[in-house]
Amino acid sequence: MAYEAAVSNVAASNGAEVLSDHICTAGRHGGGWTVRTSTGRSIVADFVVWANGRIDVARDLPFRCHIDRLVGDVWCAYAPVLTSVPDGVVHVDSLPWGWMYALASPKGVLSVTLFTEGDQKVTPSQRETLLEESLTIAPSVSALLRDVQVKLEYRGRHSAVSCFRGTSRGVGWIAVGDAAQTVGPLSSSGIGVATANAVHGAESRLEMLAGDGAALARHELVRRETYASYLRSRAAYYAMERRWTSEPFWQRRQSASVLAAALNSGGRSPARPIS
Ligand SMILES: Cc1cc2nc3c(=O)[nH]c(=O)nc-3n(C[C@H](O)[C@H](O)[C@H](O)COP(=O)(O)OP(=O)(O)OC[C@H]3O[C@@H](n4cnc5c(N)ncnc54)[C@H](O)[C@@H]3O)c2cc1C
Repeated sequence: MAYEAAVSNVAASNGAEVLSDHICTAGRHGGGWTVRTSTGRSIVADFVVWANGRIDVARDLPFRCHIDRLVGDVWCAYAPVLTSVPDGVVHVDSLPWGWMYALASPKGVLSVTLFTEGDQKVTPSQRETLLEESLTIAPSVSALLRDVQVKLEYRGRHSAVSCFRGTSRGVGWIAVGDAAQTVGPLSSSGIGVATANAVHGAESRLEMLAGDGAALARHELVRRETYASYLRSRAAYYAMERRWTSEPFWQRRQSASVLAAALNSGGRSPARPIS
């Protein structure tokens, strides 16, 4: 929140009018947009930069192509003993059905996240059983938990999918950050990728306003190259695990066809994940 407040202050000090309304709907009209907000405001705009993260509010934007259906189940515990452990050590283990990590904050909050393919609903007891089974074959995370002897409490399931919008620009709009594409947690670069893409998108919009009609097309090209590079690196990291090459989770991620299929999807949403 402090970061968002700082960004709002910079925008306001550079002449932007900052509204804290929630956007409820957004639809095309003629060449522009009508955006309706939670306070009943109706805003007409000839150009919108969509920077609203993973959940679309605008109708009519091209679909996002889902590369996978990764989800993360998160457990936390307070472990005061961990305040003496060096900050920033991430304990990672791979599993036949996914991978997991544990991380302690400097204030002693331990979080454990188990990543799996989220294509099936699981009951709370199935989830706890899977965590227990995972810990029996996750040497790094289980060693940390053994040392601290705490009871983990479940904190919820989060989407961690990699997805790519077929195009991030059209007449009167661009989408930036997670609204354009998302990267998986193994890359540990969601904020970096989203920020770099948003800064480049904003600069391209300014170039367009200054009369450069090709600026957004160049921006889209950079975005596609960046995402292709992410997918290559994602495949290379997942390919390093050789123990479970016949397991569906690993097969889907080690397939060479992912890159071509994702970037050639043209914004259509496949019925099933590509990988
Ligand atoms: C559980 C989880 C853990 C993550 N951990 C990491 C990590 O450790 N490191 C890392 O680099 N990345 C991490 N990521 C990814 C990272 O959070 C995102 O890639 C990054 O925040 C994307 O930035 P963004 O600005 O595009 O979208 P967001 O951060 O989602 O920001 C979108 C903004 O739009 C606003 N908004 C949305 N809808 C509306 C609406 N209808 N009206 C008005 N405002 C709206 C939201 O309130 C928000 O302020 C994680 C993601 C998840 C889900």
